[in-house]
Amino acid sequence: MIPAVGASLGEAWRLASRRIDRLDARLLLEHVCGCRHADLIAHPERPLSAAQAAEFEALVARRAGGEPLAYLVGSVWFGDLAFRVTPAVLIPRPDTEVLVELAVERAQAFASPRIVDLGTGSGIVAISLARRCPDAQVTATDVSAAALDVARANAIRHGAAVRFVEGDWFVPLGDERFDLVVSNPPYVVEGDPHLQLNGLPFEPRGALTDGIAGGDGLACIRRIVASAPAHLRAGGWLLMEHGYDQAVEVRGLLVAAGFLAVDSWRDNAGIERVSGGRWPGA
Ligand code: GLN
Repeated sequence: MIPAVGASLGEAWRLASRRIDRLDARLLLEHVCGCRHADLIAHPERPLSAAQAAEFEALVARRAGGEPLAYLVGSVWFGDLAFRVTPAVLIPRPDTEVLVELAVERAQAFASPRIVDLGTGSGIVAISLARRCPDAQVTATDVSAAALDVARANAIRHGAAVRFVEGDWFVPLGDERFDLVVSNPPYVVEGDPHLQLNGLPFEPRGALTDGIAGGDGLACIRRIVASAPAHLRAGGWLLMEHGYDQAVEVRGLLVAAGFLAVDSWRDNAGIERVSGGRWPGA
């Protein structure tokens, strides 16, 4: 327990560090008290108010119960931007940065590229692309209205002009075509023990898996690959994030669908994390 009355910053940090990771304890304390790391170092004797102590205690208990830090503080960094997150959206992973990098490189070949991000969640991919490709027209879809609320708030926060539309994958887009289709769809195999670890039980299951028990996790990727040709302009690219062991299969799907220049790219951990190809006819 953190003493509710009269506890100092230093004492609260020390006691919490016995129950949760020391860095997480610090970040929760900074969140509750609106202070910085430097304040904790320079003024460890500063007292918490009774309300701050109670809020800190509650958050430490939730973190000890496995809730992800990002949901407790309501924010996470992706690239050089801080994004709002709630349990309605998957917590952005650094793995996804390679998807953004690859999309930015490809967008540069088009004068005013039309880009769509399918299953945008918190909006990190669409918003990062809109900021880094100022001439692009960026659209983002998601089947979850609650996720789109989070994404819209993030777009406003970062001054990104993104058009958000609610619906499943390409469904709400009619017959629109794009130069770049990007997605970080659900791809963890339903039943994978990983789903029980590292806070994943607190994340929206529909953002992690296709829900098909005994499947291979690729149902959403198959749907996207099957529909993409009707939504790509000649010479446009499809880029999708996938699981650590899915690159060979995803390349197979892309080749079978008629994509050219099919390839996979590694994330910062050295894992083949994104695969994609170019629709012919440029
Ligand atoms: N990379 C995430 C994980 O393994 C999953 C992200 C996703 O399903 N798109 O935890």
